[in-house]
Amino acid sequence: MNNTLAGKVALVTGASSGIGEATALALSAEGALVAVGARRADRLDALVHKAAGEMLALELDVTDQESVRAAVAKTVERFGALDILVNNAGVMLAGPIGGADTTEWTRMVETNLLGSMYTVHAALPHLLERKGAVVQVSSTSGRVASAASGVYAATKFGITAFSEALRQEVTAQGVRVVVVEPGFVATELADHITDPTMRAAAQQMATSMRTLQPEDIANAVVYAVTQPQHVAVNEILIRPTDQTR
Ligand code: NDP
Repeated sequence: MNNTLAGKVALVTGASSGIGEATALALSAEGALVAVGARRADRLDALVHKAAGEMLALELDVTDQESVRAAVAKTVERFGALDILVNNAGVMLAGPIGGADTTEWTRMVETNLLGSMYTVHAALPHLLERKGAVVQVSSTSGRVASAASGVYAATKFGITAFSEALRQEVTAQGVRVVVVEPGFVATELADHITDPTMRAAAQQMATSMRTLQPEDIANAVVYAVTQPQHVAVNEILIRPTDQTR
């Protein structure tokens, strides 16, 4: 265990799998006290046992403002502060616009965009108090939209817009805003796609290249949040070397 983040408190949303889980473990390995939130509490309980140091499991649904506020409050109650928010919870229900099941659009906007906004809103007073950092997990889809990812891309473009406004509002007060834009990472994200053709296409893409691993993104987050206070790493784009688009 390192101690680059000793005495720091982090909250990671969407920590029950994939990038969030790896990031929570990486922050813990750097000495941070980490609160982990997601809906699948059983997975979070298992994660706590793998942590290098103290970790707090919080059942959290980011689409529910009350749940978000409670998670932030419990983090501060348990660890006394909040220095780093990793706003990572997200869903990717890919599919074409025409004929889409629009309840999937609602889920993506409520989770990826509104959920991450609610979390910033609830965490901000604490981050300002500690001159902390917000890590916003966006995507390459937050830079380039493509067919069959219109709504997902819209949520990620939205995260970028919100993050830049946030940066301008809080950077002079010492809060750093980091947008992380991963390319293809091997996680369960695409397994939740309901359209069988889309799901198969994503699975095919995964076998066609050396994908990123969740730990690759976790390392980038650790890099950003361990810089000296005067250095703001505002944007990190990471693709697999084999990913062309
Ligand atoms: P996973 O599916 O493994 O992780 C998604 C996480 O989000 C899970 O922990 C899930 O937990 C959580 N989540 C979903 N809905 C909610 C909710 N309503 N409230 C709280 N937590 C929720 O996929 P990834 O690790 O890949 O995804 C993490 C982030 O990375 C997402 O924002 C995704 O868009 C982004 N990303 C991923 C890429 C990839 O290629 N994998 C590429 C670019 C960006 P639970 O279901 O238990 O609530």
